[in-house]
Amino acid sequence: MSELVSRVAGEIGAILYSLGIEGEFTDDQLALELGIEINEIRKALFAMYELGIAEYRRKKDDETGWMEYYWKLNYDKAKVVLKRELQKTKEKLLRKLENESNAVYYICPNMCIKVSYDDAISMNFICPSCQNPLEFLDCSKAIARIEEEINNIDEILSRL
Ligand SMILES: [Zn+2]
Repeated sequence: MSELVSRVAGEIGAILYSLGIEGEFTDDQLALELGIEINEIRKALFAMYELGIAEYRRKKDDETGWMEYYWKLNYDKAKVVLKRELQKTKEKLLRKLENESNAVYYICPNMCIKVSYDDAISMNFICPSCQNPLEFLDCSKAIARIEEEINNIDEILSRL
């Protein structure tokens, strides 16, 4: 589960999540206990808040007059939220896969441009910047990488 949190809330998010904190806590209290920068902790908590895994309420400290954030991690909801995020990522990857599979690209060996087949024709397969002949771009490696990532997500989803 925490490997999933780390995908969306970074390493520190994963650490916080794996602590299994029950009830409310303040971010400065946690920063002291863990020896992690408070800004890093807040960043992770707000990322988790955006996803609905964490919630907070603000309360003014009577002694200092500062606003304190009282956080609570939402473990019940985490599974649903992470499933949703993974599905979203997967759909994005599937669209990317479709684009890569259908498209034929040509690139300049000096990396000036990457163009479609049609554009390459109109350029007579010559790079307009450096005049080098354009080369056919083999997308199979990129496709394999995307497929691998989709398989990873499927595997994680099947364990949820
Ligand atoms: Zn070029």
